[in-house]
Amino acid sequence: MATVVQIENLRKEFGKVCALDGVSFEIQEGEWIAIMGPSGSGKTTLINILGGLDTPTSGRTIVDGVDVGRLDEAGLTRFRAEKIGFVFQQFHLVSYLTALENVMLAQYFHSTTDEREAQQALERVGLGDRLEHLPTQLSGGEQQRVAVARALINHPKLILADEPTGNLDEANEKIVLDLLRELHTEGRTILMVTHAPSIGSLADRRIDFSHGHLVPQLAPVGSQRR
Ligand code: ADP
Ligand code: MG
Repeated sequence: MATVVQIENLRKEFGKVCALDGVSFEIQEGEWIAIMGPSGSGKTTLINILGGLDTPTSGRTIVDGVDVGRLDEAGLTRFRAEKIGFVFQQFHLVSYLTALENVMLAQYFHSTTDEREAQQALERVGLGDRLEHLPTQLSGGEQQRVAVARALINHPKLILADEPTGNLDEANEKIVLDLLRELHTEGRTILMVTHAPSIGSLADRRIDFSHGHLVPQLAPVGSQRR
């Protein structure tokens, strides 16, 4: 099985704060990983570095064979567009673009736009009747489903989801988690940050963080719920 993510001795300092303190792990193709840990333990910092949104102080990050630390700005832009699908807690949709246009914008950054494909992606997340809606005209759950469609549109090698259900009610949480489960079944590789043990247990494997360190795993968790 192919290794999609390889992290070696990753360290990130923000002034005196050490957000990541020598983190190493690997993720294999098709794995669904839950990153867990208290607030401030370095989870978002890790996701940002993996996705090429931030740079580490030291250490190495390899995603799908690409050494992310060696990319220049243009290379990082391409890397993000081609390899990564982001789903953030705060959705981060462009407020003056419709649902359809938000998805097409991701296509545009990748290569060319294809309205039919963007429409199909929105249909897939159950929003076929919301194509022309602006983010403000959508509920939180619907906005997050647009973000999931946007994350998938370029067939990324890795889906990075940082507390994807953190701002959702229970019904929408279930819809988004069902989508992630479906993607996992299709063989996608997913790295998901969550606070909730019940959500973490959906994943194949849990990686626990504490103060920028990995907490050693005592017993395998997960898979029994799937
Ligand atoms: P988590 O996502 O687990 O809640 P973060 O990765 O956001 O944690 O933050 C880890 C630590 O790094 C925290 O102590 C936070 O205050 C600090 N930190 C994160 N981003 C910055 C930044 N841009 N500047 C300064 N400190 C930061
Ligand atoms: Mg965070």
